Amino acid sequence: MKIGFIGVGLMGGPMAHNLLKAGYELKVFDLVPALLKPLIQDGAIAVDNARLAIEGVDCLITMLPASEHVLKLYLEEEALLDHIDPKTLVIDCSTIAPDVTKTVADAAAKQGITMLDAPVSGGTKGAQDGTLTFIVGGSATGFEAAQPILSAMGKNILHAGDHGAGQMAKICNNMLLAIHMAGTAEAIQLGVNNGLDPKVLSDIMVQSSGRNWSLELYNPYPGVMETAPASKAYQGGFKVNLMVKDLGLSQQAALLSHSSTPLGALARNLFNLHAAQGSEQLDFSSIQRFYKPK
Ligand code: NAD
Repeated sequence: MKIGFIGVGLMGGPMAHNLLKAGYELKVFDLVPALLKPLIQDGAIAVDNARLAIEGVDCLITMLPASEHVLKLYLEEEALLDHIDPKTLVIDCSTIAPDVTKTVADAAAKQGITMLDAPVSGGTKGAQDGTLTFIVGGSATGFEAAQPILSAMGKNILHAGDHGAGQMAKICNNMLLAIHMAGTAEAIQLGVNNGLDPKVLSDIMVQSSGRNWSLELYNPYPGVMETAPASKAYQGGFKVNLMVKDLGLSQQAALLSHSSTPLGALARNLFNLHAAQGSEQLDFSSIQRFYKPK
């Protein structure tokens, strides 16, 4: 089975590696050619543009930053939907606005193409280890067809509902993630400012009622967790600007559905301020620096 993969950045790169490992033939494309090199070494065929990535493939996967990139690729500049063979299963793993997902999926359906939204959770580590959670929106038959492919990159493949439902569930998740990451950073800094060791405090809270994913697997305080971005000067991981995008999407959804999300609004402002202070390319756990005393 041949797969086209467009967008091999921090997440797409390791996801594509896992597809190669599972024995899929892969055609890869990214606007940054240097990102293609390690995949070529592992047997992928690199192509020069998006149109070439869809030729003769059974499935197309995209992993792009935001709504505008997905719109440009599928409907506008590249207009890929006009050129995709209707037999090709199309899976967009980017986290984007649910209404954009629906627009693109509806346009795909008009061409007889099955499209799924399948944003992921689990971070770059999950992408590397092949343990991502895929949160899928689209038809039951599309979901079934995608199972073996997604299973090569993830551990939990969940069906959220129709087109856009995958995005909506992912947006809710990331709003909660931002809130508990900021809360975790705040609590650790309070402890440190009052003489506690950040590792000892983290170990205590992991075994207490403050336990959460950020604290346990992605500790924001430098040096507490060797493998976390915090211990690598917040390089790699999930960039602040992408978290700001996701928090904007949750606020948009709240506005449209008349939902109250006071903590989500606070988190968006917090991460937005942090980005504006020059942190947008850092991992989102760098919100810890926001709390650091002078
Ligand atoms: P990234 O910026 O590292 O990668 C995106 C890649 O897409 C880049 O390499 C870019 O060159 C490429 N690209 C953009 N437009 C393109 C086009 N038209 N054609 C070909 N390539 C194009 O971002 P990432 O961290 O890999 O995130 C990708 C998506 O996954 C985002 O929507 C993000 O919100 C989501 N996500 C990220 C994480 C994480 O931990 N990094 C976790 C879960 C979900």
